Amino acid sequence: MSKVEAFLTPEEEKEIISAIRTAETNTSGEIRIHIEASSEKEHYERALEVFHLLKMDNTKDANGVLIYVAVKDHKFVICGDKGINDVIAENFWDTTKNVIQDHFKKGNFKQGIVDGILKAGLELQNHFPWQTDDVDELSNEISKG
Ligand code: CA
Ligand code: CA
Repeated sequence: MSKVEAFLTPEEEKEIISAIRTAETNTSGEIRIHIEASSEKEHYERALEVFHLLKMDNTKDANGVLIYVAVKDHKFVICGDKGINDVIAENFWDTTKNVIQDHFKKGNFKQGIVDGILKAGLELQNHFPWQTDDVDELSNEISKG
């Protein structure tokens, strides 16, 4: 089994997908998770590349958010689309990052991702509240690279 497959159990994956669904009931922002073993590129650069590969730069309000995790490298990156970056402060993601980091340090990967997703949803709702005509623009499934 590859490192990526062993990272989360099927039950944990279900919990993560369910957290994305919950988060997206608060905000029109679209949250996705990408997990891979490692990256030769710098992680932020790789996260931006994945963002584009997953066509996350294609949402109506440019408010997609990617949580990128490189399991073997012990690295993660949160990156948002232009619509978000235009209206938030530079340290906007810090609280979400801290939530994830605290769990990851203790080896609680699933909980780190779940709580990070829920936190990101709450942070986003002030700027991008959920709308009655909301569409699930990006798949809630976990992307694996
Ligand atoms: Ca949506
Ligand atoms: Ca979605």
